[in-house]
Amino acid sequence: MKFLTYRSGDGRFRPGVLEGDLIRAIATPTLRDYLELAPHERVAWHTADELVELRSVTLDAPVRPSRNVFCVGRNYLEHAKEGARAAGRELKLPSVPTFFTKAPTAIVAPGAELRLEGRVSQEYDFEAELAVIIGAECKDVPEAEALHVVFGYTALNDVTARDLQREHGQWFKGKSLDSTCPIGPWIVTPDEVGDPQALAIAFHRNGVEKQNSSTGEMIFPVAQLIAELSKGMTLLPGDVLATGTPQGVGFARNPPEFLANGDFLDVWIEKIGHLKNTVTIA
Ligand code: MG
Repeated sequence: MKFLTYRSGDGRFRPGVLEGDLIRAIATPTLRDYLELAPHERVAWHTADELVELRSVTLDAPVRPSRNVFCVGRNYLEHAKEGARAAGRELKLPSVPTFFTKAPTAIVAPGAELRLEGRVSQEYDFEAELAVIIGAECKDVPEAEALHVVFGYTALNDVTARDLQREHGQWFKGKSLDSTCPIGPWIVTPDEVGDPQALAIAFHRNGVEKQNSSTGEMIFPVAQLIAELSKGMTLLPGDVLATGTPQGVGFARNPPEFLANGDFLDVWIEKIGHLKNTVTIA
C-alpha cells in the first residue's frame, strides 16, 4: 500500500491511502497519529468519507516525525571513496554507522520549491536516499527482526550545505537548513517493496543523470542500521531514517557542481517513484 498526506478540500492536510489514482482519506489528524495506533486498529481508520483524485491535490511530506530525521553518512562504498578523494583524505571505513540528524524544520513536501538562502551557503548539494519509516515503538531490536518494525519506505533528498558541513566539525548545521529535506511522494509498505537491498536508486539534475546505483551497495543494510540505532535508544512510530547516498554527489565531481537557482531535482527509487523538487536560491 501507499500512504501519503494531501491537502483536502477544506484546506487542511490529512493522511490518506492511495488506491489506484484515488486517495482514500484516513480519519486520524496526521499519518503519525495513525502510526501510533496498534497495527490491528489501523484499517478501521481508513474512511470512505473522502475519495479524491491524486492528480487534483497538493501533497505534503507523507509523515512529519516528532523529532529530528535520523541519517547515516558514508553508507555506500563508492560515495565514501569519492568523499575521501575530494577532501584529499585517506579512505577509512567506519566499523559502525556514522549517524547524524537533520532538524524536522528542514522537511519539505514532494513537488515543493526548495527555498535556499545564498547568504547562508554557496554550496548546496544533493544526496538521493532511501528513507525508512518506523512503524512501532522499539528498542534493542535484533538485526534478524529489524525489518518487522519498518512501516514503509520513501525517497528523501539529503540536501547539504557543503561549506557549512566542512566549516563546522559536526555535520548537524550543514544538514539542517530550512528546505533541505524533501521527502516523498508517499510511503510504500514492505509487502510492495520487497527486499530493501534490491532497489535501483537514481538522481537527475535538470534531466541529467548524476547518481545511479542500487541499495544493494549499502555498507550497512537497513536491518543493521535499525539494530545499531535502536541499541539503548527508543525509536518511535513516524521516525524517519535516511540510509545514505550513493556516489555522484556534486562536491565530489570534477569540477564540483552545486545547486543553482531554477534547478529541477528528481530522486527516483524503484518501487517507490519520483521525488521531484525545484530550487530557488535567493
Ligand atoms: Mg546523506
